[in-house]
Amino acid sequence: MWKEVKELRFCPDCGGTMFYDRETRQYVCNSCGVSYTIQELVMIKEKKMSFKEEQERKKRQKEEYLEWWLSKKK
Ligand SMILES: [Zn+2]
Repeated sequence: MWKEVKELRFCPDCGGTMFYDRETRQYVCNSCGVSYTIQELVMIKEKKMSFKEEQERKKRQKEEYLEWWLSKKK
């Protein structure tokens, strides 16, 4: 539990470091001042990850298609 609180978080908006505000139970960005709850931060992180995975998948598909197309040309 304590470790979770001490863990350094980065702002999803500007990439700055965030500190934990015990009173509001939110992480507040040092740079842009935006604040998120831990749940929101996890959600944003997951969303970003699935977006990245989707990009990777599309890229792979394109490469596979290109390979198929090139092999057809021969
Ligand atoms: Zn920020």
